[in-house]
Amino acid sequence: MFTLPPTHPALVPATTPTHHRARITSAALTQPNLSVSDEDDPTSLRSTWSHRAWVSTGCASVLVPLADSLSSLTDPASCAESALAVLVGYALADLGTGIYHWAIDNYGDASTPFQGHHRRPWTITRRGFANNLHALARAVALTVLPIEAVLLAHGGHPAAQAFVGACAGCVMFSQQFHAWAHGTRSRLPKAVVALQEAGVLVSRAEHARHHRAPYDGNYCIVSGLWNRVLDESRFFEAAEMVVFLRFGVRPRSWDETAAEWMEETGSDS
Ligand SMILES: [Zn+2]
Ligand SMILES: [Zn+2]
Repeated sequence: MFTLPPTHPALVPATTPTHHRARITSAALTQPNLSVSDEDDPTSLRSTWSHRAWVSTGCASVLVPLADSLSSLTDPASCAESALAVLVGYALADLGTGIYHWAIDNYGDASTPFQGHHRRPWTITRRGFANNLHALARAVALTVLPIEAVLLAHGGHPAAQAFVGACAGCVMFSQQFHAWAHGTRSRLPKAVVALQEAGVLVSRAEHARHHRAPYDGNYCIVSGLWNRVLDESRFFEAAEMVVFLRFGVRPRSWDETAAEWMEETGSDS
C-alpha cells in the first residue's frame, strides 16, 4: 500500500489539460515505492521493432488471402460471392471483438489489457500504432497463416480467402478503430470521423457508453453493429449464466464495480 502523492493522476481534476496530465504522470513515476503499471509508463506506449515485426507479419497474413482471392476472380458471380464474403467477414469480426472483450472484461484479471484501459482510457490514443496492434497482429498471424496454407493446399477458394482476409484484417485493426473511438473529433482524420458517423467504424458516442458504469455492454469495437443486438437480447447475461452453471465462475459484472475498474480522471475525448 502507498499514499498517493498530491500530484497523482487520481487526484487531478478531469478538466486538467492533457499536457499537464502527461507531465503529472511522469512526475508520479518518480515517486519512490509507487506501483507503476504498463499504462503508467510512457515508454511502454512506444512501438518496438518486435511490435512492428508482428504487425508486418499480421498485415502480410491478411493481404495474402485477399490478394489471392482478388487474382482468382474471373466472372461477375465470383466477384459478388467474394464481395459478400468480405461483408460477412467484416460483420463477424465485430461480433468476435465483442465476445473477446466481454470475456476479458469479465473473466480477466489485472494483467489483462482491458482493465488498465478502463482505469486510464486516454492512454490508448498515445500508444504507438504497432504497440497498440501487435498483440492482435500476432494472434491473427498465428491463426490465419495455417488456415491459408490449408486453403491453398486445396486449390484455394476466392470467397473463403476473401472472408478470412477481411475478418482477420478487421480483428487486427479493431484496436486502431478502438483508439479512434477515444480520439478527439478535431484531431481525427476527416475520413475517420465520416466513417464513424456512417456507422462503418465504431463511433465515439457508442464506445463511450461502454466506459460508463456498470461496464456491461457495448463491447464490440469494429463497427458496433452487434452492440444493440447483443445488449437488447441479453446475450452476454445468458452466456454468463452458462459459464457460472458450468464452471461456477462469476463474471465481474455481477458484482459492484471495483475501484480499480473506475476511470481515474476524465479522458481526452
Ligand atoms: Zn471494456
Ligand atoms: Zn475503450
